[in-house]
Amino acid sequence: MKVSAIDGTRKYLFALEDGNIIESVLMKYRHGNSVCISSQAGCRMGCRFCASTIDGLARNLRASEMLDQVYRIQQDIGERVSNVVIMGSGEPLDNYDNTLRFIRLITDERGLHISQRNITVSTCGLVPQMLKLAEEKLQITLALSLHAPDDETRKELMPIARKYPLKEVMDACHTYYEKTGRRMTFEYSLVRGVNDSPEEARALVRLVKGRCGHVNLIPVNPIKERDFVQTAPKEVLAFKNYLEKNGINVTIRREMGRDIHGACGQLRRSYLEEKE
Ligand code: SF4
Repeated sequence: MKVSAIDGTRKYLFALEDGNIIESVLMKYRHGNSVCISSQAGCRMGCRFCASTIDGLARNLRASEMLDQVYRIQQDIGERVSNVVIMGSGEPLDNYDNTLRFIRLITDERGLHISQRNITVSTCGLVPQMLKLAEEKLQITLALSLHAPDDETRKELMPIARKYPLKEVMDACHTYYEKTGRRMTFEYSLVRGVNDSPEEARALVRLVKGRCGHVNLIPVNPIKERDFVQTAPKEVLAFKNYLEKNGINVTIRREMGRDIHGACGQLRRSYLEEKE
């Protein structure tokens, strides 16, 4: 386990029975303790900015292995976890049944009884599973990793965009909202020179305006295997201001645990490298 000297974020590495390694993160906020858990060991989605996918997918996690991450962290800090974000290594909707089982167990009154509204599932945009999830009519938040306002740029960053074009993904978001009444979160990692120009800000406004959702801007966490560079803070702010002026609900996500391998999958990867 590593603790950030900057913000107190804790990153945990857990060894599974079969020797696979996964990571989870605890972030302490004023409103409570939030844990970001992994849903798979590795990932097969291939997003270019992500360290979790470099060695591909090792295997899906069972619901019990997802639960265990939360219970172990609670035990370690001696405090209750109030929010769970399924945004660590893995694409949760690529492990649909276990993810659903986990959500049902962690929200059950005989379990930790965490409110469904305090659970967030993040997806890179697996359209059929998003539509299936909408039918479950849960009160969880669905976060879409958008990262680009057009298909061309998105395809460069996220191979899944070759299978599901933005129009289909955004329609699935709309269906999710219609069926559940829950507003979407659109995650947008800003990468210098790739998706952060004023033109892209305009395209993003056109894409999300009128959709019931909220944009989360994330200055990309550099990983050593890729040459992506963070957008400068001043430009992040200008991007945010432009969106806001155009009526988009937007926040800049605070970078957490930058000094302890902040990016998703980074700590696990550096551990595996050292082991080799
Ligand atoms: S960002 Fe998420 S979906 Fe994409 S490769 Fe990383 S873990 Fe997988």
